[in-house]
Amino acid sequence: MIDLMRIVHVSTGKPYDIFIEKGVLDSVGETAKRLSAAKKVTVISDTNVAPLYLERIEKSLENSGFEVFSHVFKAGESSKTLDTISKIYADLAEFGMTRKDIIVALGGGVCGDMAGFAAATYLRGIDFIQVPTSLLAQVDSSVGGKTGVDLPAGKNLVGAFHQPIAVLIDPDALTTLPDEFIRDGMGEVIKYGCIKDSAFFESLEAENVLGKIEDVIEICVSIKRDVVSRDEREAGERMLLNFGHTLGHSIEKLHGFSGITHGMAVAVGMVMIAKAGEKQGYTEPGTAERIALLCKKYGLPTTDDSSFAEIAEAARSDKKTAGGTINLVLLTKIGESFTKKIELDRLKEFITV
Ligand code: MG
Repeated sequence: MIDLMRIVHVSTGKPYDIFIEKGVLDSVGETAKRLSAAKKVTVISDTNVAPLYLERIEKSLENSGFEVFSHVFKAGESSKTLDTISKIYADLAEFGMTRKDIIVALGGGVCGDMAGFAAATYLRGIDFIQVPTSLLAQVDSSVGGKTGVDLPAGKNLVGAFHQPIAVLIDPDALTTLPDEFIRDGMGEVIKYGCIKDSAFFESLEAENVLGKIEDVIEICVSIKRDVVSRDEREAGERMLLNFGHTLGHSIEKLHGFSGITHGMAVAVGMVMIAKAGEKQGYTEPGTAERIALLCKKYGLPTTDDSSFAEIAEAARSDKKTAGGTINLVLLTKIGESFTKKIELDRLKEFITV
């Protein structure tokens, strides 16, 4: 089979391309050379991903003439802190990284968010390339320029919008992923079908798409590209990408961010909010059931032990929802979504079905 490179162009304020191809990991050096006048590159990765791919990435960069450094942090969401960022800054300074040098983020969502944030802020901003290695990062978090870290008070409370200069997606990287991480990414994949693309949703229903994952990646990043190109800073349409996330985030929080992945929580959140939408008369009847069946098909949960009251309370205490109202993302039907602002005080009643 001839494997063609797929390129998705993102026309944000600072435009860039997403390259999807098996083996594209090995072309990070060429891509960096083509897009940047950097002399030095720092690769940021974690202890899970570095043993698998760091050497290949370093070699590719060195072959293109770069002086290469690496910073490897302990894998996991608990590393996504300002403390880790301080250590990254210290290394960047020690390596003598200048404003024209670049960072490569090699890893999953945590790595991309954090390396992106380091790039957004070191020397008031340097360029970076995303090399996402998890399904969640490949279909979702590596595109769109959201970067940041967690605070003790909540997830992603400090960050910056900073677009990469390129995203290199190697579907072969997924072959080393434990099953749980494929399921995690499928939560976001199903989300894209729900909010924007009923034909895609139907194809997820009709077949097992894991065998043609490049198509799935291309469709998801193209939808995200369309949305973030029109609304880079989440003033409106970009909020639709949060479908299932308000309640999902509350559920993650109630679990103390362990024992349930982001994608699992989003799956439950999508089913819950679709049910609520049906009850309130906004959403075509039967929609929640279709989403639930699809989530189950890809090994995702559709219910949680937390009560409606607990979930609503967790959303209310979220630092991001300060101000008394919340923007819920609802579906009219599969493939069509909209936002609705409601009072936080009404959330419990709204979601109770
Ligand atoms: Mg998400």
